[in-house]
This record gives sequence, structure tokens and C-alpha cells, in this order.
Amino acid sequence: MEDYIGILKEAHEQLRSRGDSIAVKDLTLCPRKKVFSKIDPVRMTDEELYDYVSGQAAHDVIERLFMIYPDRFRTEKEIQYGNVRGKIDIYDRLANNIVDVKTSKSQKILLKPFKFHEEQIRYYMAMSGSEEGQIIYQMDKFGKYLVFPIYMTDKERVNQLEKLEHEAGLLQKAIDRKDPSLVKGIYDDAEISWMCNKCPYLEKCIAVRDTKINVVGAI
Ligand code: SF4
Repeated sequence: MEDYIGILKEAHEQLRSRGDSIAVKDLTLCPRKKVFSKIDPVRMTDEELYDYVSGQAAHDVIERLFMIYPDRFRTEKEIQYGNVRGKIDIYDRLANNIVDVKTSKSQKILLKPFKFHEEQIRYYMAMSGSEEGQIIYQMDKFGKYLVFPIYMTDKERVNQLEKLEHEAGLLQKAIDRKDPSLVKGIYDDAEISWMCNKCPYLEKCIAVRDTKINVVGAI
């Protein structure tokens, strides 16, 4: 029997791994996981495939709706700064604004965006010279949308680009040295540490923490 689910996973992997560049999400999610995945690639689980497809389905419909106005909007706009790449969900050409769409299964109404989502759009804004960005959350449990605007001054964008270069440099060094301990993990971040429970490198990461915690400090 052909393994079509396996083909889907393989296709996703091909979509994700684009040469040696670093994705903005590698910096805003877990840089340490990125290093592990380079050293020891593992195929995504069924659950990860499901989450990806269901989240992407909402994205695709929203993007199609924006593209009713093709003179104004571009979707899936690829951007690059040095060896760091990103993909903007929706780019408003008229206003030079960036819109990032997220789906959330949160049981609570969000009062502010998650830090790692905000950081991602800040990087995109800095890379694109945008003064305004918006994060749109599709709240699956509530059947509604929440919109959070983000504003950045020229100075803030310059600082953000410096941070991007610094973080990407650290990650690249860790990848080159095949040493996950050289970059931070997310296990102490209450907003995002739930991802560790699904991480295929959890045991290895715990071993790194136990033996090399001083390498990256108390991160
Ligand atoms: S266990 Fe958590 S901190 Fe460690 S690599 Fe995986 S996602 Fe990152």
C-alpha cells in the first residue's frame, strides 16, 4: 500500500528546508530545536501534520479573500535579510503594512498577542521597513477574530535588525558546531514551553540542560 501520509510529510519537509538559510520562525520558536533538527532530522508526527494542515487551511482561505484585491495585497510574500528568510502572510502594498494570521486553540480570550508571535512580526516589519503590523488571531474555541496592531519607529526597526543579525549569528554558529547547547531553548518560557511536550528532542534537550546549562546561562 502506498504511504500517502508519508508523502505529505516528506513534501512538508521539502517545503520547510530551504537550503542553508535560517527562517525567522527558527529564531522566534525554539532555536535549539532547529539545531537538533539539523543534527538529527526526524519526520514529523501525524499530530504535527494535522496541526499544520488545519492551521494552513484557515490561512489559505483568508489569503484568498485578501487576494480579491490583487492591486492592493500580496500574500505569502518572501523576504530575506542576510541569510534569514521570512514569509509574510499578507502584505498591504498601499499602506506598507504587514498582516500575520494565526489560529489559536486557547481556552481564554487573548488580551495581547503571544510574545513569540509579536517578535516574529517585529522581525518582518524590520526586514520590510514597515511602521505598522497586525496580528489577526482566529480563535477556534470562540468562533471570532482578535486583531492586535503593532507599531515600530525607525529606531526600533534598526534595533530589531541588529537583534536579528545577532540571534541568527548565534544560531548559525550552533548549527556549524553541531552544538545545541550554544542557543537558548524555550523550556522556561511559560507562553510556549508546552511545545516541549511534543518535541522529538525532549530527552536530548534535558540531557543538554543537565550537563551544559552554563554554556548559555540560565535561559
Ligand atoms: S525540548 Fe523544548 S527547549 Fe528543548 S529543543 Fe525541544 S522545544 Fe526546544
